[in-house]
Amino acid sequence: MRAGAVTTCNVVRVRGTRFVPVTSDAFNDLLDANKRFAETFDLAGFDGVAHAGIAIVTCMDSRIDPLGMLGLSPGDAKIFRNPGGRVTPQALEALVLGVHLLQVKRVLVVPHTRCAMASATLEDLRARVGESAGQDASWQHFGVVENQEAALRDDVRQIRSHPLIPDSVAVGGFLYDVDTGLIEQRV
Ligand SMILES: [Zn+2]
Repeated sequence: MRAGAVTTCNVVRVRGTRFVPVTSDAFNDLLDANKRFAETFDLAGFDGVAHAGIAIVTCMDSRIDPLGMLGLSPGDAKIFRNPGGRVTPQALEALVLGVHLLQVKRVLVVPHTRCAMASATLEDLRARVGESAGQDASWQHFGVVENQEAALRDDVRQIRSHPLIPDSVAVGGFLYDVDTGLIEQRV
Protein backbone atom coordinates (compact mmCIF):
# COMPACT_ATOMS: atom_id res chain seq x y z
CA MET A 1 0.00 0.00 0.00
CA ARG A 2 1.13 3.50 -0.76
CA ALA A 3 2.39 5.44 2.27
CA GLY A 4 -0.33 7.72 3.53
CA ALA A 5 -3.16 5.72 1.99
CA VAL A 6 -6.18 5.13 4.21
CA THR A 7 -8.06 1.86 4.21
CA THR A 8 -11.80 1.51 4.65
CA CYS A 9 -11.26 0.70 8.32
CA ASN A 10 -9.40 4.00 8.57
CA VAL A 11 -6.10 2.49 9.65
CA VAL A 12 -2.91 3.59 7.96
CA ARG A 13 0.06 1.35 7.40
CA VAL A 14 3.46 2.82 6.67
CA ARG A 15 6.30 0.34 6.30
CA GLY A 16 4.57 -2.20 8.45
CA THR A 17 3.82 0.19 11.29
CA ARG A 18 0.19 0.31 12.31
CA PHE A 19 -1.21 3.74 13.17
CA VAL A 20 -4.64 3.97 14.72
CA PRO A 21 -6.08 7.46 14.18
CA VAL A 22 -6.49 9.66 17.23
CA THR A 23 -10.00 10.92 17.91
CA SER A 24 -9.91 14.71 18.00
CA ASP A 25 -12.09 17.60 16.84
CA ALA A 26 -9.16 19.94 16.44
CA PHE A 27 -8.53 19.08 12.82
CA ASN A 28 -12.02 18.39 11.49
CA ASP A 29 -12.14 21.41 9.18
CA LEU A 30 -8.83 20.43 7.64
CA LEU A 31 -9.82 16.79 7.25
CA ASP A 32 -13.02 17.90 5.53
CA ALA A 33 -10.98 20.08 3.21
CA ASN A 34 -8.70 17.14 2.56
CA LYS A 35 -11.62 14.99 1.43
CA ARG A 36 -12.52 17.67 -1.13
CA PHE A 37 -8.86 17.83 -2.18
CA ALA A 38 -8.78 14.08 -2.69
CA GLU A 39 -11.84 14.22 -4.96
CA THR A 40 -9.79 15.89 -7.66
CA PHE A 41 -6.40 14.47 -6.63
CA ASP A 42 -4.28 13.84 -9.70
CA LEU A 43 -0.81 13.16 -8.28
CA ALA A 44 -1.41 9.45 -7.66
CA GLY A 45 1.51 7.32 -8.79
CA PHE A 46 3.75 10.37 -8.96
CA ASP A 47 7.42 9.44 -8.76
CA GLY A 48 8.45 12.20 -6.32
CA VAL A 49 11.33 13.57 -8.37
CA ALA A 50 11.66 17.32 -8.95
CA HIS A 51 10.08 17.52 -12.40
CA ALA A 52 11.41 21.02 -13.09
CA GLY A 53 14.80 20.08 -11.60
CA ILE A 54 14.47 22.71 -8.88
CA ALA A 55 15.22 22.70 -5.14
CA ILE A 56 14.27 25.66 -2.95
CA VAL A 57 15.52 26.45 0.55
CA THR A 58 13.36 29.15 2.07
CA CYS A 59 11.81 30.43 5.27
CA MET A 60 8.78 28.95 7.02
CA ASP A 61 7.12 32.38 6.74
CA SER A 62 3.47 32.05 5.68
CA ARG A 63 3.82 35.01 3.32
CA ILE A 64 5.96 32.89 0.99
CA ASP A 65 4.45 30.67 -1.70
CA PRO A 66 7.61 28.86 -2.88
CA LEU A 67 6.05 27.29 -5.95
CA GLY A 68 3.84 30.18 -6.96
CA MET A 69 6.60 32.78 -6.72
CA LEU A 70 8.62 30.88 -9.33
CA GLY A 71 5.78 29.87 -11.60
CA LEU A 72 6.06 26.24 -10.54
CA SER A 73 3.44 23.60 -9.75
CA PRO A 74 3.23 20.70 -7.29
CA GLY A 75 5.69 18.07 -8.44
CA ASP A 76 8.16 20.53 -9.90
CA ALA A 77 10.44 21.19 -6.93
CA LYS A 78 11.89 19.87 -3.69
CA ILE A 79 11.26 22.41 -0.95
CA PHE A 80 13.08 22.72 2.36
CA ARG A 81 11.82 25.30 4.83
CA ASN A 82 12.97 26.45 8.24
CA PRO A 83 13.01 29.69 10.25
CA GLY A 84 15.09 32.11 8.20
CA GLY A 85 15.52 29.85 5.17
CA ARG A 86 18.97 28.77 6.30
CA VAL A 87 21.23 26.10 4.83
CA THR A 88 21.41 23.85 7.87
CA PRO A 89 22.89 20.33 7.95
CA GLN A 90 19.38 19.01 7.29
CA ALA A 91 19.01 21.34 4.30
CA LEU A 92 22.31 20.05 2.90
CA GLU A 93 21.10 16.49 3.46
CA ALA A 94 17.95 17.31 1.46
CA LEU A 95 19.96 18.93 -1.32
CA VAL A 96 22.37 16.00 -1.64
CA LEU A 97 19.41 13.64 -1.92
CA GLY A 98 17.71 16.02 -4.33
CA VAL A 99 20.73 16.30 -6.60
CA HIS A 100 21.59 12.61 -6.71
CA LEU A 101 18.24 10.84 -6.44
CA LEU A 102 15.55 13.36 -7.34
CA GLN A 103 16.86 15.11 -10.48
CA VAL A 104 17.63 18.49 -8.94
CA LYS A 105 19.78 20.61 -11.29
CA ARG A 106 19.26 24.10 -9.82
CA VAL A 107 19.12 25.22 -6.19
CA LEU A 108 17.65 28.50 -4.97
CA VAL A 109 18.28 29.76 -1.43
CA VAL A 110 15.58 32.34 -0.74
CA PRO A 111 15.44 34.25 2.54
CA HIS A 112 13.06 37.22 2.59
CA THR A 113 12.55 40.81 3.66
CA ARG A 114 11.09 41.53 7.10
CA CYS A 115 12.07 38.07 8.38
CA ALA A 116 11.70 37.75 12.14
CA MET A 117 14.85 35.66 12.29
CA ALA A 118 16.86 38.49 10.73
CA SER A 119 15.32 41.35 12.69
CA ALA A 120 15.17 40.03 16.26
CA THR A 121 18.02 39.21 18.59
CA LEU A 122 18.36 35.87 20.32
CA GLU A 123 17.54 37.57 23.60
CA ASP A 124 14.41 39.14 22.10
CA LEU A 125 13.11 35.84 20.81
CA ARG A 126 13.84 34.03 24.04
CA ALA A 127 12.10 36.76 26.02
CA ARG A 128 9.02 36.77 23.77
CA VAL A 129 8.73 32.98 23.68
CA GLY A 130 9.33 32.80 27.41
CA GLU A 131 6.53 35.31 27.98
CA SER A 132 4.16 33.38 25.74
CA ALA A 133 5.09 30.07 27.34
CA GLY A 134 4.96 31.42 30.86
CA GLN A 135 8.29 29.81 31.62
CA ASP A 136 11.99 30.17 31.01
CA ALA A 137 12.98 29.82 27.35
CA SER A 138 16.59 30.92 27.70
CA TRP A 139 17.78 27.40 26.87
CA GLN A 140 15.99 27.27 23.51
CA HIS A 141 18.13 27.64 20.40
CA PHE A 142 16.92 30.08 17.74
CA GLY A 143 18.95 30.55 14.59
CA VAL A 144 18.87 34.32 14.44
CA VAL A 145 20.57 36.01 11.50
CA GLU A 146 22.68 39.06 12.28
CA ASN A 147 23.55 39.93 8.70
CA GLN A 148 21.16 38.50 6.15
CA GLU A 149 23.38 39.21 3.12
CA ALA A 150 26.43 37.65 4.74
CA ALA A 151 24.40 34.65 5.87
CA LEU A 152 23.11 34.17 2.34
CA ARG A 153 26.63 34.27 0.91
CA ASP A 154 27.75 31.70 3.49
CA ASP A 155 24.77 29.48 2.80
CA VAL A 156 25.32 29.51 -0.96
CA ARG A 157 29.04 28.87 -0.43
CA GLN A 158 28.23 25.87 1.75
CA ILE A 159 26.18 24.31 -1.04
CA ARG A 160 28.65 25.12 -3.79
CA SER A 161 31.56 23.69 -1.79
CA HIS A 162 29.78 20.56 -0.61
CA PRO A 163 31.80 17.55 -1.81
CA LEU A 164 28.68 15.70 -2.90
CA ILE A 165 27.13 18.56 -4.86
CA PRO A 166 28.82 18.83 -8.27
CA ASP A 167 29.69 22.09 -10.03
CA SER A 168 27.15 21.25 -12.71
CA VAL A 169 24.39 22.17 -10.23
CA ALA A 170 23.51 25.87 -10.46
CA VAL A 171 23.22 27.44 -6.99
CA GLY A 172 21.87 30.95 -6.43
CA GLY A 173 21.07 33.13 -3.43
CA PHE A 174 18.02 35.36 -3.70
CA LEU A 175 15.99 37.73 -1.55
CA TYR A 176 12.20 37.56 -1.68
CA ASP A 177 10.34 40.81 -1.04
CA VAL A 178 7.20 39.97 0.94
CA ASP A 179 5.67 43.31 -0.05
CA THR A 180 6.09 43.08 -3.81
CA GLY A 181 6.37 39.33 -4.45
CA LEU A 182 9.59 39.89 -6.40
CA ILE A 183 12.78 37.92 -5.91
CA GLU A 184 16.17 39.37 -6.69
CA GLN A 185 19.40 37.43 -7.10
CA ARG A 186 22.06 38.50 -4.60
CA VAL A 187 24.62 35.70 -4.87
ZN1 LIG B 1 11.35 34.45 7.72
